[in-house]
Amino acid sequence: MKTMTCNELGGACDEKLTAESWDEMVTKMTKHVMDNHPDVAEEMEKMHNEDPKKWGSIMKPKWEAADSN
Ligand SMILES: [Zn+2]
Repeated sequence: MKTMTCNELGGACDEKLTAESWDEMVTKMTKHVMDNHPDVAEEMEKMHNEDPKKWGSIMKPKWEAADSN
């Protein structure tokens, strides 16, 4: 398991999100921003529409660098 904060993933709060895999983290983060930060969700959707790989290319290295727990 790895834990990252919403902030680290481009979000707007310090909530900790824990996941087994990057794919799971993406799913959790997506749900978290849609539930809690509609404005951030909108930004992410825009970014995704412009370049579907951009968010992942920025955030995945942070996931790789995060300590397992
Ligand atoms: Zn958040």
